[in-house]
Amino acid sequence: GRPPLRTQVLSVPVDVCPDVKAAALALHAAGGGQIVTLNAEMTMAARANPALGAAIDAAQLVIPDGAGVVWALGRQGFKVRRSPGIELAHSLLSHAASHGWRVALVGASPEVMEQLTGSLRQRMPELDLVFALHGYQPPEAWPALEARLLAAAPDLVLVALGVPRQEVWIQHLGGRRGGLWMGVGGSFDVWAG
Ligand code: UDP
Repeated sequence: GRPPLRTQVLSVPVDVCPDVKAAALALHAAGGGQIVTLNAEMTMAARANPALGAAIDAAQLVIPDGAGVVWALGRQGFKVRRSPGIELAHSLLSHAASHGWRVALVGASPEVMEQLTGSLRQRMPELDLVFALHGYQPPEAWPALEARLLAAAPDLVLVALGVPRQEVWIQHLGGRRGGLWMGVGGSFDVWAG
């Protein structure tokens, strides 16, 4: 497919691409990187939070998730539809299951993570879930857990720690280590519910 076209909304980069899943798969094939799903709240938050702004700037793929971002792109003449992060995350999980990708899940409450991994094992038995970690670990536990995550060499890491923490954490950790790293906000809660 055509490569994404990068533009800006409120000084934040965003990629216009006809097919976000194809763009994500191309990014995986090219060595991986960070996917950000952008909404208007995040463009505001990025102004006040330089670490969030830097993470979005450094992301390899920024997809227009929110209606406000799509509206702003429309004002620039781009006819795009919303690309909800939760939908991209789900189609990447399906792709992972059918292509032998190594998958890691990070974030949400212990109960939600337990329920989610249980239902994924039932509904996607072929999914190679190499790492699952809830998002309420004590601060001192994170460095060792991060090392284990990296050692698991995941192809896909879905991170539900909320904005801006998930974007900043991915930028700090996943940056350019291979695999797709994507913040998914409250998606695990939705899937588990
Ligand atoms: N979360 C977490 N650890 C924290 C704070 C939040 O794992 O220290 C999880 C929370 O349980 C939820 C997700 O992060 O699953 C944030 O969801 P929310 O809908 O608030 O995401 P946002 O819209 O802020 O991106």
